[in-house]
Amino acid sequence: MSARKKSCGCWTQRTHLLRADEYICPFCGGSADKPYVTCPFCGHSMEGSDYDPSWVDEAEMLDIFFDDK
Ligand SMILES: [Zn+2]
Repeated sequence: MSARKKSCGCWTQRTHLLRADEYICPFCGGSADKPYVTCPFCGHSMEGSDYDPSWVDEAEMLDIFFDDK
């Protein structure tokens, strides 16, 4: 589910604690393993990446287990 609408041509970086980061193309929804200059799926040029705070949910879950504050 994508709640935020992107107006810029930038990757949505999704950082996962238990697996590799992925970069989501806002135009075609493709998932790349790194922020390419152009999307390898739809060919749209990208300006960079944008941090997706969705990883926080995973971090909070892990806090319960590790509690390293
Ligand atoms: Zn794309």
